[in-house]
Amino acid sequence: MTGPVICAPLRVEARALRRGLRDLREHGHATVDVVRTGYGPARAAAAAGRLEQSGSGLAVGGVAGALSGDLNVGDLVVASEVRGGGPVVSCPSAPLLAGELRRAGLRVHVGPIATVGHLIGRGEHAGLAESGAIAVDMESAPLVRGAADRPSVVVRAICDTPTHPLVSPRIVTDGLAALRSLRLAAPVLARWAAAARPRRVLMASPRSFCAGVERAIEIVELALQRFGAPVYVRKQIVHNKTVVADLEKLGAIFVDELGEVPDGATVVFSAHGVSPEVRSEAERRGLDTVDATCPLVAKVHAEARRFASDGYLVALIGHAGHEEVEGTLGEAPASTALVENAEDVAKLEPDDPGKVAFLMQTTLAADEAGSVVDAIIDRFPAARGPGSDDICYATTNRQNAVRAIAADSDLVLVVGSANSSNSLRLVETAQRAGTRAFLIDSAEDIEFGWLAEAATVGITAGASAPSAVVGQIVTALAGLGRIDTKEVVVATEAVQFGLPRELRRSAG
Ligand code: SF4
Repeated sequence: MTGPVICAPLRVEARALRRGLRDLREHGHATVDVVRTGYGPARAAAAAGRLEQSGSGLAVGGVAGALSGDLNVGDLVVASEVRGGGPVVSCPSAPLLAGELRRAGLRVHVGPIATVGHLIGRGEHAGLAESGAIAVDMESAPLVRGAADRPSVVVRAICDTPTHPLVSPRIVTDGLAALRSLRLAAPVLARWAAAARPRRVLMASPRSFCAGVERAIEIVELALQRFGAPVYVRKQIVHNKTVVADLEKLGAIFVDELGEVPDGATVVFSAHGVSPEVRSEAERRGLDTVDATCPLVAKVHAEARRFASDGYLVALIGHAGHEEVEGTLGEAPASTALVENAEDVAKLEPDDPGKVAFLMQTTLAADEAGSVVDAIIDRFPAARGPGSDDICYATTNRQNAVRAIAADSDLVLVVGSANSSNSLRLVETAQRAGTRAFLIDSAEDIEFGWLAEAATVGITAGASAPSAVVGQIVTALAGLGRIDTKEVVVATEAVQFGLPRELRRSAG
């Protein structure tokens, strides 16, 4: 046997998996063989020896006992690693499989699985759980160990828990619930097997955090150290779920408006900036404020004030509703109009057509903004622009880098959150280069269908996305088969911004 395979120790498990694959087979979709490998570690080890080595994936599917009270009968456990009877075997593609199973509507836990040589009794759960394992079975470790260099993965459906042991009046209903989950997991395992292959990975550089984001995160961390938790942050400090969740763990509380901040508290303004009205409200309330506005956003605010005081109508090129745009519009609301496209330019009604200026949101796509600038200059040839580019160095570099990898990639993955403007622009830039591109917050968001035909995957990350998440994604892809990674560097960045006055003393 050389193709991908699902190993099922018991006859009932193999039957549930085959039933789950039946629809795929009947509709002519690619599927995968299910091999019954036998009960217990000795039969599993013997079966592993018979499975011929190849680059194709090897999945283990079956039932298991839960070691943690958080797991219920019918839940699925995807092994992050498998322990017992020899070296620990890690399963790096576990987050990918878990994400796809969750999208299929299944309840999924990811964690270590322990393989033991006997059915465990009532008193044994706690000891095994202390090792960190969340489920226990009798075959997975020898099977995945036998897979050697093949990509491997383990999914087990819970059929008993510490409070509902295997031998109980519920044995039949609990067993059926577990087998039903296994059946539903089978098509997902087939998609995992179809995506398991060696591939090339092109890493766009620069990617991930810019100087403004690093500074904003450091500001919240220093504010927490200096003033103690909680520290309030108006809006997300940067548009990234992982960053926000990490800072929440340290004691930051994110709010939408200052009305949610208690009197006397410290509040940080996010990297996207705030309007003068928000600053005045904080002052009126007597709140202690720390300003994490990126200096490059603050520069656009200063330009808006200058043009407005010189009597210009300011056409602000940007996206409606984005926090940065709201903050900049607030600098001179009577003299500023948001323009998203050429149609908006046609609607501008300046008092003096000779006194029109344009500014930009810092995170726009250069080509998209360029067409709006052309429309402004067509209509108002004397229009003035910013002294230096408003689209910041980090946005420009990341767009150039993604363009450089997109042409050679079958698929581009952009790490970033859905509300991150610069990350969304990276997706659009790759798509404009003719390559399929998707925005993902984590490895769990990657769909096997995207990967099945992708021999070369390009990876980048928006300026607000942590590099650690990029590393997790590369590791997860390596769990689907050997990867050959290449950095494509279009620029190096050495930009650094100083801390705001309120925190300089504590930084030393
Ligand atoms: S993307 Fe640009 S403007 Fe935004 S925080 Fe980073 S450096 Fe500043």
